Amino acid sequence: MRIVVDLTRCQAYAQCVFLAPAVFELHGEEALLYRPDVPDEQIDRVRQAAAACPVQAILLGAEVSADAR
Ligand code: SF4
Repeated sequence: MRIVVDLTRCQAYAQCVFLAPAVFELHGEEALLYRPDVPDEQIDRVRQAAAACPVQAILLGAEVSADAR
């Protein structure tokens, strides 16, 4: 599954990093790094991370192409 994090929205709250550390990583205080191609075994964690993100910065699957329009 593809994901996109809207880094203009992300406030580095790091909820996603706690919920899916294999996919999201914080460098320093506010630089979020992530894997745009989520392996199948991480999808549930990434869905939880997206739901937990206080600013809804994580876009999943179909939302990614919708956002690119
Ligand atoms: S939970 Fe949302 S705001 Fe926090 S670091 Fe992750 S993407 Fe950014």
